[in-house]
Amino acid sequence: MPAYPILLAPGDGIGPEVLEEGLKVLNAVERRFGHEFQYENALVGGAAIDEYGIALRDDTLDAASRSRAVLFGAVGGPKWDDPQASVRPEQAILGLRKGLGLFANIRPVRVNPLLLADSSIKSEVLEGVDMVVIRELTGGIYFGKPQKRWENTRGRQAVDTMRYSEREIERILRTGFELARGRRGKLTSVDKANVLDTSRLWREIATELAAEYRDVELEHVLVDACAMHLITHPATFDVIVTGNMFGDILTDEASVLAGSMGMLPSASLGRRRRNGTGIGMYEPIHGTAPDIAGQGIANPLAMILSVALMLRHSLALEEEAAAIEEAVDGVLAEGYRTADIESGSGSTVDTTRMGTLVAERLAT
Ligand code: NAD
Repeated sequence: MPAYPILLAPGDGIGPEVLEEGLKVLNAVERRFGHEFQYENALVGGAAIDEYGIALRDDTLDAASRSRAVLFGAVGGPKWDDPQASVRPEQAILGLRKGLGLFANIRPVRVNPLLLADSSIKSEVLEGVDMVVIRELTGGIYFGKPQKRWENTRGRQAVDTMRYSEREIERILRTGFELARGRRGKLTSVDKANVLDTSRLWREIATELAAEYRDVELEHVLVDACAMHLITHPATFDVIVTGNMFGDILTDEASVLAGSMGMLPSASLGRRRRNGTGIGMYEPIHGTAPDIAGQGIANPLAMILSVALMLRHSLALEEEAAAIEEAVDGVLAEGYRTADIESGSGSTVDTTRMGTLVAERLAT
């Protein structure tokens, strides 16, 4: 039986609450499909700062490197919010991404037909929305140097640098082309080529690569126009690929389409093996939700769907991943809702019950 070592990094706030439900579902997968997952646990984020004084220990990064995947809750909260602090919870996420070479963040955005009525956007706009947004994770303006602040006679100054190399652009665009090839064959490359040199290089490389992927239709869209189209006609998108900062903003915007942060999973991937798998970090897109932490009402479905992505992208267990997604759809079809997605018609359940319902459905 193949070994599946997985590092569990629950983090802070609702992170541990939803991760617990992800584990429940993994246990159900083990029973149904006869696998054995091996877990190691690590404190990250605020919990690690409290215990060790840093957000991510070298030991944790080593354990992550030995694993096939990291299942991550969320980090942060008011207790560690001081923007001037040199030790901050999110250093755990950035450290794991950088340390594991995870350069591609993948966020599927599918609007479940059962939740159409719950969205703040009109149902007819949302119908058929099924896209994947790929964001470059380890380059661009969040990492470019110089990045600093100073003061002179003209007052306070600051600089950030947007830098991209050909290699960084090519590998993320290839991720986009490959993914589009396995879906509806349309890739939207998002940039700001009318203003930025990094974007003009990005667009040039995308156009060159398109010659290798003739089965994929490539379109270039400026980031400001894309922000608008995501709300006006989101169903026209299949795969969107973009840089770090544009992706950061657009993925949050796209998440609104699905109704709740509590519904959306994400995968951060690095280099792939020939069979398409490789180490990855899997986490819900939401944060630690301090406003509801400890109340047992968080929606665990984003975490449970992140588990499905982990099985698909890091463990090559497609059938098992699809079974989880079907179980989630099944539970929603029966009318069960957590508070964030309920519209008064179904029965409202808490975090634990929602996890149990999905796990039970998997067992049948
Ligand atoms: P958030 O995602 O934690 O919460 C935003 C809103 O969505 C809140 O009202 C919250 O109650 C709700 N929400 C989020 N997840 C939910 C779920 N599963 N079920 C039901 N409702 C849910 O974002 P925020 O409030 O901006 O940030 C809170 C903390 O989380 C901050 O410290 C922030 O830095 C951190 N954060 C961490 C990550 C991460 O670890 N990846 C991501 C975003 C924010």
